[in-house]
Amino acid sequence: MHRPNIIINSAMSADGKISSVERRQVRISGREDLARVDRLRAESDAVMVGVGTVLADDPGLRVKSSHLVQERTRKGWQQQPLRVVADSSARTPPGAKVLGEGCLVAVSACAPAERLARLREECEIIRCGQERVDLRELTGALYERGIRRLMVEGGGSLNWSLLQEGLVDEIYVYIGALLLGGKDAPTLVDGSGFRGDYPGLKLISSEPMDEGVLLRWRVAGIP
Ligand code: NAP
Repeated sequence: MHRPNIIINSAMSADGKISSVERRQVRISGREDLARVDRLRAESDAVMVGVGTVLADDPGLRVKSSHLVQERTRKGWQQQPLRVVADSSARTPPGAKVLGEGCLVAVSACAPAERLARLREECEIIRCGQERVDLRELTGALYERGIRRLMVEGGGSLNWSLLQEGLVDEIYVYIGALLLGGKDAPTLVDGSGFRGDYPGLKLISSEPMDEGVLLRWRVAGIP
């Protein structure tokens, strides 16, 4: 099945955490990196997060720079990339910033009807998978609706599932100049962990940025 080109973009501390042990959003990126992330969003057809990130951070996931929005319009694209939430049981709270025109919430067959009815007032719903969102099916459906470049903005559980399914092409990680600590703090890739079949990465570039460094990796696949 065809799928979009999929890039995970994340910011982590020097000790590999993407948020604090209380799962609070921490400002890891500096100005230059935030501008880079905004540009990457603007160059993407869709931006996706897991519902854990919606519940923890309530991100808007929109392109912020009006200049970049204009650039999209000039190219004949939608003003904003499609915003996608992987949310098996429709836990996205009403009024979440991600919702509204241009938001697609992917649920599974087990999502309760009353939550779906409420969510449907604020977004489009797509059903993929029985218990959990089937990411292969979802990315295939996104391709069918013209999504060719999908930017994934976490969190660690969604990143894990996508990597485990072999659905990720590139990983961009900004490593900030701070430590967050905590063995239970979310990391770039959480889940149950690879056991021997560790996917390899190929370094595309490394670039000092703000007080940290940006690494771009290509996923070389499971050996
Ligand atoms: P997450 O990865 O955003 O979302 C995980 C949830 O997505 C799951 O609990 C699951 O809930 C849903 N989901 C649906 N289908 C799935 C599938 N096939 N595989 C995996 N998950 C699926 O949440 P998280 O791991 O808790 O991470 C959130 C943390 O990451 C927050 O602390 C946030 O601040 C941090 N974060 C940091 C960055 C950064 O760049 N620094 C970026 C994003 C997030 P259901 O089973 O209910 O569907």
